[in-house]
Amino acid sequence: MKKKTLLTPGPTPVPERALTRMAMPAMHHRHSEFKKVLGEVREGLKYIFQTKGEVIIFASSGTGAMEAAVTNTLCKGDQVLVVRSGKFGERWADICKAYGVNADGIEVKWGSAVKVSEVAAKLKAKAYKALLIQATETSTAVQHPVKEIAELTKGTETLLIVDGVTGVGVFPLPFDEWGIDLLVTGSQKALMLPPGLAFAALSEKAWKACEKSDLPKYYFNFRKELKNLGNNETAYTPAVSLIVGLHEVIKMYKEETLEKVFAENARMAEATREALKAMGLKLFAPESPSDACTAAWTPETVDGAEVVKRIRDVYGYAIAGGQDQVKGKIIRIAHMGYIARYDIIAGIAALEQTLTDLGYKFELGSGVRRAEQVFGG
Ligand SMILES: *Cc1c(COP(=O)(O)O)cnc(C)c1O
Repeated sequence: MKKKTLLTPGPTPVPERALTRMAMPAMHHRHSEFKKVLGEVREGLKYIFQTKGEVIIFASSGTGAMEAAVTNTLCKGDQVLVVRSGKFGERWADICKAYGVNADGIEVKWGSAVKVSEVAAKLKAKAYKALLIQATETSTAVQHPVKEIAELTKGTETLLIVDGVTGVGVFPLPFDEWGIDLLVTGSQKALMLPPGLAFAALSEKAWKACEKSDLPKYYFNFRKELKNLGNNETAYTPAVSLIVGLHEVIKMYKEETLEKVFAENARMAEATREALKAMGLKLFAPESPSDACTAAWTPETVDGAEVVKRIRDVYGYAIAGGQDQVKGKIIRIAHMGYIARYDIIAGIAALEQTLTDLGYKFELGSGVRRAEQVFGG
């Protein structure tokens, strides 16, 4: 009878409203009933992405949209620049490699954000077709300075391609205003849905690049989807129930407003950071923390993997551990999507219990008290 709560940076909890809608009998994707839903979803996605342009929808995980970003805008042998600050930055580099795109990397220490001056210097030294980056590098809980980087690429030949999988719907990434060229996300993070939908917004510059791109592609074809969306259809069978769920999620975002969602996420992020510090934990990314998730070093005497296992198995809270070089050394707690203040407070309480069980000495209740102070003050 254990109640389970997801505080993982994907998947995130799905609101009851969306679950109920998705449980309704299936619609045919070429019938008017579904086309009406898709039409409203198209408009809603423009609101979420803060763009006037079309947002392309694929039935895939977020990585599908990342791959599509590369295969639709680039050419074989293109030179691109990839910010490598964790697992997802490496994914950009791997996708480029798979398609014969030459990727230079900016290596960033895990837990740090890329320096704008370093990006500027690299862009000056060589002509790059694209710069690929994460809005949040989820593996390290770092938020990169996308706004400042967009100022470097705006009006140049270089496309700014942003993996916003834990950014869109979490904190401001106004696509048109900042001059981002390609922004992708997936359904299972801030969009509060099960995994299975991927999205991409494109600027005019990006659409022009699509005309010239010669990389192989079939299913993940932006131009083909753009044409179909104009008729409230997708080229192939869409993930109908997820799009119906998205219809509901968009309503929730509009009722709440993006501004309020962003402000609340920032507040929950701050409360989480402050609570962890009050418990004596060291933040993993203190200089440039993300509003999507927070990472902290586990105490030296405690195995991070044990924390993640115990808090889930005994207390019912799913959090994430570290990957690769920080495996077993950090914990990550997400605070995006359908997460409320009291989920954070309860999650911190569960973490306090877990760490106490594992022999870490600190004042019980110190994290919860600090989180409440941040929310209350
Ligand atoms: C979750 C995530 C992805 C997408 O991963 P999928 O498993 O393919 O959905 C991509 N980038 C970032 C930054 C993420 O957090």
